[in-house]
Amino acid sequence: MAVNVRFAPSPTGYLHVGGLRTALYNYLFAKQNKGTLILRIEDTDQSRKVDGAIINLVESLNKCGIIFDKGPKKYDKNDLFLQSNRLNFYYDAVDSLLNNGYAYVCFDDDLEKYKDRRFSKEELADKEYHVRLKIPNHNLNFNDQIRGDINFDLSLLDDPVILKTDGFPTYHLANVVDDHDMKISHVIRGEEWLPSTPIHILLYKYFNWDLPYFIHLPLLLNPDKSKLSKRQGHVAVEDFLNQGYLPEALINFIALLGWNPKTNDELLSIEALINQFNIKNVQKAGAVFDLDKLNWMNSQYLKNIDIQNIVPIAKTIFQDNHFIINDESDLVSILEFGKGRCSTINEIAQLSYPFFSDPEYNADYLDLLNDDQSHMIYSLMIKEIMVMKCIKASEIKQIISSLGDTFNIKGKELFFPIRLAIWGDVHGPDIGLIIKILGKEKSIQRLKRALSYGK
Ligand code: GLU
Repeated sequence: MAVNVRFAPSPTGYLHVGGLRTALYNYLFAKQNKGTLILRIEDTDQSRKVDGAIINLVESLNKCGIIFDKGPKKYDKNDLFLQSNRLNFYYDAVDSLLNNGYAYVCFDDDLEKYKDRRFSKEELADKEYHVRLKIPNHNLNFNDQIRGDINFDLSLLDDPVILKTDGFPTYHLANVVDDHDMKISHVIRGEEWLPSTPIHILLYKYFNWDLPYFIHLPLLLNPDKSKLSKRQGHVAVEDFLNQGYLPEALINFIALLGWNPKTNDELLSIEALINQFNIKNVQKAGAVFDLDKLNWMNSQYLKNIDIQNIVPIAKTIFQDNHFIINDESDLVSILEFGKGRCSTINEIAQLSYPFFSDPEYNADYLDLLNDDQSHMIYSLMIKEIMVMKCIKASEIKQIISSLGDTFNIKGKELFFPIRLAIWGDVHGPDIGLIIKILGKEKSIQRLKRALSYGK
């Protein structure tokens, strides 16, 4: 059987991490079955449409490496991957349901009045009406590949609207008509759509169409098991990317929200995920979105990243923090310093703030600043740096080592007071690197600041 799957977001805002998980599972399933992944924009609810949302969604997905085989190209009125351009398909479908008595026209919400009536085209002309689907009063069985057989009592449902007074279909009708038209073999979507599935199945039956397989993915939860929501923190994929979470790490983390490879190996590349992912092993229970785990995972990816790959995003993040770096090689050095210590690029930026503004001194080491020997070292360093034309980390190293010889000190005794003066703390980046990046003027100013501390 040809595998055709789709991701069918509504353009109502940003891409939610739950949406990314749905898109990713569809992607993995398509790839491993040599199938086709389709992007379909479900924009029939005109009142919830948000400008720019479609482009934003596609960009976030593409940044994460999710590329569609078919989907919107020009986003103009001829683009048949936007439901708002497919109204004629839905009108034909509504006509067929009306003609077969599976749906009925209503002029208001007094359903009983209209259930068994039929109106001619002339009677409907220039009138405001909506169309509802007839729901029979029996039980309906269907199979979900994850939840198994489900028995649903249809008498619990009201007859749902399938065509609204504004001329647009509702989600149910458009979704089923398109899944059929696009030959979708597997409907893989979030569990929140499970209650809609009986209506969809009924539509398939009324149209006499073959059913696709249904696969409903477990909800994403906060650690306290409440539904993952914006209130608890970030849920927009673009926010994660903008903070410097790496797309590979985010994808790896998201892939494990509801599925696991049943091995201890949690760090999985996209290739490994394509090989190992198994839709049949997706769990029923809600999956907890554990930010600590994402941070850990991102730090692992960050540790091994080729720095050049993160320079562009790092530039933006440093700029957003108003940290100005003129020399790209300085940024590379800062990233090199931070990547083994931080979970995200934003964290690296935070950690490196003393490069950009005078830091507070670590209160545990203030004694070092009031020490005669420290003062002598600071003064000598100022003299040496003053005469340097351009600052090289290697030369700074030499200066410090000869200061060590002069005072007969080494290691912590030598480095702690210097780093405290120029970095605000005794631990931090290599002193040569700090002075090189700070530049002559700022380095001298920091040493003078330390000299005058407490005076
Ligand atoms: N438009 C729905 C959404 O926003 C699609 C649900 C489905 O995949 O059927 O998630």
